Amino acid sequence: MSVETAQGVLGDATIGELEAAVRGTVVRPGDASYDEARAIWNAAHDRRPALVVRCAGAADVIRAVEFARSQDLLVAVRGGAHSIAGFSTCDGGLVIDLSAMKGVKVDPERRRVVAEPGLTWGELDHETQAFGLAVTGGLVSSTGISGFTLGGGVGWLLRKHGLACDNLIGADLVTADGRLVHADAEENAELFWALRGGGGNFGVVTSLEFQLHPVGPQVLAGLVVYPQAEARQVIGRWRDLCAGLPDELTTLVNLTTAPPLPFLPESVHGTRIVVLAGMYAGPLDAGEEAVRPLRSLGTPIADVLGPMPYLGMQSLLDPLWTEGAHNYFTSAFIEPTDAAIEAVTRAHRGTPTPNSEIHLHQLGGAFARVPADATAFSQRDAGVLCNVIARSPGAAGFDGHAAWARATREEIARHGNGSMYVNFTGDAAEDKARASYPEAVHDRLVRVKDAYDPTNLFRLNQNIPPSAAR
Ligand code: FAD
Repeated sequence: MSVETAQGVLGDATIGELEAAVRGTVVRPGDASYDEARAIWNAAHDRRPALVVRCAGAADVIRAVEFARSQDLLVAVRGGAHSIAGFSTCDGGLVIDLSAMKGVKVDPERRRVVAEPGLTWGELDHETQAFGLAVTGGLVSSTGISGFTLGGGVGWLLRKHGLACDNLIGADLVTADGRLVHADAEENAELFWALRGGGGNFGVVTSLEFQLHPVGPQVLAGLVVYPQAEARQVIGRWRDLCAGLPDELTTLVNLTTAPPLPFLPESVHGTRIVVLAGMYAGPLDAGEEAVRPLRSLGTPIADVLGPMPYLGMQSLLDPLWTEGAHNYFTSAFIEPTDAAIEAVTRAHRGTPTPNSEIHLHQLGGAFARVPADATAFSQRDAGVLCNVIARSPGAAGFDGHAAWARATREEIARHGNGSMYVNFTGDAAEDKARASYPEAVHDRLVRVKDAYDPTNLFRLNQNIPPSAAR
């Protein structure tokens, strides 16, 4: 059966050639698995690609890239399918779906892991924790390792071990001309620089090698919950504490609405709360000492901060972040001044739904010690990364909730330099990529784009347009 694309029609025989050329599968409209194959985590993006190529390995990726180029198809690349902006799907184009590529090899001696891009953080952590090792991964275990790492990668090990991308040692990728190239500190070093924070602009990554670190298996971690009425005081005291906290401890403030969870008294369910979450990546007794001040920032409603498996902390938030809802994230790097804290708490009082929330990620530590020009991710001296989130179970009212998040972000961003984090950016617009990088970094990214993707084949991302497209 032929298939309509944004460009025209692909004949059955043409698609058959692609099917014969790959080891994986090609899914098209009308196939039983089409609806499942086109869906991504964020249901706000309900798109109908012409083809989804479920790649089994790098050879399939090469074939898919060549096919897309020869047929002039729009290309979407998918790792773990958690793109907030919906980049990992498209209308009328070709999705290069890497989610079946889950090969992983841990080298416990050298503390390294080579991982394929279809792995989620839950899967990679499972493999590395068998050896008591880990690399900075996401706060929700279903998030994919590849999109996460290419954009930066903020997680509970950030202050001890930096971003995920800071721990990337090398990567293989298929470039727009169908070549498989390797990038590391010695080989294709500019490309390697760009891959660490520049997103999916430069090709399809088929393998990632990470540095691992001893972590857990038990860590001191969890949450302390405070009432909204104490928000300003709690966040102000947290801000004052942050400067003195050890690198082992990474914390996050979540201004949210209490879900009906058993560890929260029923009387607070549905009320606005301030959640102080954190993880200490070191000995438990030292962790107990380090987290003690977090327990008395106000009058705790609940305190569930204690020893738990690292894998437990990595999946603690999973039940709240299931797929299929409508989601919008936006972000700003800010300084947590009194005025910023006032703006954040005011915004929290105005959240339109119980699922709308504001996260304040503590930065500093190992993250801040990476030289600003070492990776394309370059906001190393920011105090806090703020993520404003709108989420609703269905489409009803979602546009209004997203508008709240956008407006809130504008208010809060006044307290920083205006820059954003590509992985927490739900809009797809060139000014968003520009706002994510200082001008010199953006210019340098354009030069790498010119070298590896001069026709902008890979443009469904926070896009760095090549010079020829300007
Ligand atoms: P995908 O949707 O598969 O990919 C997103 C885009 O990344 C692709 O469209 C493509 O442009 C690029 N890409 C992905 N894989 C490849 C590849 N192999 N080669 C080339 N390009 C590729 N971010 C954080 O920093 N910290 C968090 O704790 C965190 N938690 C999150 C929790 C949830 C529930 C969600 C939805 C997102 C979270 N994020 C977090 C944001 C997350 O980092 C981004 O959404 C990231 O893009 C997800 O990667 P993915 O592979 O799952 O996504």
